[in-house]
Amino acid sequence: MKAFSYHRASGLEAARQQAATTDAAILAGGTTLLDLAKCEVARPEQVIDITRLPGLDEITVDAQGLRLGALARMARVAEDAAVRTAFPAVAQALSLSASAQIRNMATIGGNLLQRTRCAYFRDPASFPACNRRTPGSGCAALDGITTNHALLGTSEACIATYPGDLAVALVALDAIIHLGERQVAATDFFLLPGTTPEREFALAPGEIITAVTLPASRAARRSTYLKLRDRASYEFATVSVAAGLELDAECRVATLRVALGGVATIPWRARAVEAALTGREPTPEAVREACLLAMQGATPRPDNRHKLELAPRLVARAIETLLWEERA
Ligand SMILES: Cc1cc2nc3c(=O)[nH]c(=O)nc-3n(C[C@H](O)[C@H](O)[C@H](O)COP(=O)(O)OP(=O)(O)OC[C@H]3O[C@@H](n4cnc5c(N)ncnc54)[C@H](O)[C@@H]3O)c2cc1C
Ligand code: SF4
Repeated sequence: MKAFSYHRASGLEAARQQAATTDAAILAGGTTLLDLAKCEVARPEQVIDITRLPGLDEITVDAQGLRLGALARMARVAEDAAVRTAFPAVAQALSLSASAQIRNMATIGGNLLQRTRCAYFRDPASFPACNRRTPGSGCAALDGITTNHALLGTSEACIATYPGDLAVALVALDAIIHLGERQVAATDFFLLPGTTPEREFALAPGEIITAVTLPASRAARRSTYLKLRDRASYEFATVSVAAGLELDAECRVATLRVALGGVATIPWRARAVEAALTGREPTPEAVREACLLAMQGATPRPDNRHKLELAPRLVARAIETLLWEERA
C-alpha cells in the first residue's frame, strides 16, 4: 500500500478544497477505501477524514420524506423504525448489505461511491488491462470469467457491474443526491461506462455527498428489496430488485417503481416493466408478462445468461409480495 498523509477536515469547505487536489481521497467509514488502497487500485497521496464534521449524520423522516446525512452509518439507518415503516426498501437493502461489522462502520455516502467488484479491476498486478482503472488499457474481463458481470448498460470498454444495494432502492424511489448546494437525481448520478468507464459518478473534483433525500409516497411506504446471492450473508447480489407499488381505488396499478441490481453497470431502473403494468389490473398473467421486459436490451455473455431468466422472476416475486401485502 502506498504511504499517504492523513488530514482531519476542519470544515466542509476546507474538505472540498483539499479533496479537489489531485490524488486526494475522502475518508468516511474507510471500509472500501482501505480495501482499494491495499490492492493498489486507490493510491491517494492525501486522505481527508470527514467523519468528525458535524451535522452530516442525521436521519430525518417527516411528511415530506426521508433525509439521510452522508455520514449516517448503514446500521443506524437500517434499524431506524421510521425508515423501516416509510421506506422499507431502503432499510431492507441496507440490512442485506455486507456484514454487521461493516454496516456499523460504513456510511451512506461511502456506500453509494463503492466501486465495482470486477475481479480484474481489483487485481492490477495480474491484470494490467482495465479501462476503468487505466483508461485505454483494454478490458481483461472480455476474455475472462463473466458470471458476475453486467448484461445491461455495458459498452465495448467495460462490462463491470455496479455492486451496491442501497443505490438500487434509491434509484427506484426517485432519490436526490445532495452535493452541498448542487443536487443530482439518483437516476443521473451513476454513469454508464460508454467510452469513459473511469468516470463512474456525476461528481466534480472535490465535490462531497452531504445528504440523500427521498420523497414520501405510498409507493415508497409499500416497497420492498429482494436480493439473490450465492450465500445467505456477506455477499453481493447475483440479482436484486427494489420495487414500490400503489394501487388505485379499483385495484389497478396507480404507481409502480422497479429497479434492478447485480445485472447492470449502474443501478438499473426497469421503466418498461413500470409502463407495462401502470393503469392495469395486476393479474398474475399481466405481472408475468410485464416482468419479462425487465431484461429488455440485455447483452448476455455465456457465463451470465442465467440472469435473463432469474431477473424477471425476482421482479415478479417482488411485485407479488407487494400485492399480497396490499391485499392483506
Ligand atoms: C467483504 C465486503 C462485503 C460487502 N458487501 C456489500 C453488499 O453486500 N452490499 C453493499 O451495498 N455493499 C457491500 N460492501 C461494500 C460496503 O457497503 C462499503 O465498503 C461501504 O458502504 C463503504 O462505506 P464507507 O463509509 O466505509 O466508505 P469509504 O471507504 O470511506 O469511502 C468509499 C469511497 O467514497 C468516497 N467517499 C466517502 N464518503 C464520501 C462523501 N460523503 N462524499 C464524497 N466522497 C466520499 C471515498 O473517498 C471512497 O472513494 C461490502 C464490502 C466488503 C468489504
Ligand atoms: S469489466 Fe470494466 S472493470 Fe472489469 S476489467 Fe473490464 S474495464 Fe476493468
